[in-house]
Amino acid sequence: MSILVSGATGFIALHVVSDLLKQDYKVIGTVRSQEKANKLRKQFDNNPNLSFELVSDIAAPEAFDKVFKKHGKDIKVVLHTASPVTVETTNYEKDLLLPAVNGTKSILESIKKYAADSVERVVITSSYASVMNVSKEGDGSIVYTEKDWNPATWENCQIDGLNAYCGSKKLAEKAAWDFFEENKNVVKFKMSTINPTYVFGPQLFDEDVNDKLNASCELINSIVKNNPQVEYLLENIKSHFVDVRDVAKAHLVAFQKDEAVGRRLLTSNGRFAYQDLVDVINEDFPQLKGKVIVGKPGTGKQSYGTFPGINNNRSKEILGFEFISLHKTVHDTAAQVLKKEGKL
Ligand code: NDP
Repeated sequence: MSILVSGATGFIALHVVSDLLKQDYKVIGTVRSQEKANKLRKQFDNNPNLSFELVSDIAAPEAFDKVFKKHGKDIKVVLHTASPVTVETTNYEKDLLLPAVNGTKSILESIKKYAADSVERVVITSSYASVMNVSKEGDGSIVYTEKDWNPATWENCQIDGLNAYCGSKKLAEKAAWDFFEENKNVVKFKMSTINPTYVFGPQLFDEDVNDKLNASCELINSIVKNNPQVEYLLENIKSHFVDVRDVAKAHLVAFQKDEAVGRRLLTSNGRFAYQDLVDVINEDFPQLKGKVIVGKPGTGKQSYGTFPGINNNRSKEILGFEFISLHKTVHDTAAQVLKKEGKL
């Protein structure tokens, strides 16, 4: 039996693939090009349990059909992680909404067509973005749980990159649950979603630490690199975090534990303000003294009451493991960047 991981090149997906291989699963990863498959094959030391299929654009009609036509009977678990992660676009439909929503619908349609009797579990990588209401980000009286939904619609989320990204995640996740409801008597699988907040932590492979990192880790990279936008980020970024290693673990628990069936697993380990990230970097890496922003050390917590909270006790109970702390996730992310730059 095999596990299909869509978007295997992704920051989160690489940790998922690594965890799956450590537990001796056979993994089929979808990637956008042969070059990407070749690179991953090498990075995973030609592990015989890892193979690849090309899906160059998840937004294309029937994008996953050929994968399920070929492997459908062998695939028992599908982890759909592929989705664009950016807020830096104005072409909201092409760059965010269509790949997120059509990609999710099409992987589920392909399962229905070619693997309705063989796929047993599906895990969709959704987001806290599909839980929270972007227009209420300044409301400290709200406490979100796994039951909450971002009210975004296709039309009203196309205001800016942030609204469109959050809308893309909400609409994709909603499409998945709707598909499940409409087809639960036709398909065998049970479904769960993983809804992470900002995901920090190291890239699986040091060599993938580029000048610019994936969208969420770039927040930490921007401090280490002292990028021009740090002043703006210091004023504006406050949210919730989780480490990539915990998000990867959650993907495995989601299909391994019965309690996870039908659940939205909100993976988050607490609040952070950008000042908190700045503080860890200044405390832990004295070699950056005088070269990175300092802000007002110790004041991050003062903003915690000014944005919505999260109560994800139910998810944590189901997942059943301790989450990595803010200090460790920020330290490990920054340390990997410094190591790459020869400054550790
Ligand atoms: P990455 O950008 O590292 O990974 C995204 C993956 O999706 C890559 O494999 C990418 O392929 C693939 N992809 C994107 N668009 C397409 C497309 N049109 N066709 C085919 N493949 C595509 O991001 P993350 O690992 O951070 O995100 C993975 C998932 O986790 C996403 O669903 C994201 O929404 C979700 N998430 C992430 C959070 C975070 O803070 N990082 C927080 C909450 C949810 P390629 O590498 O070739 O570009």
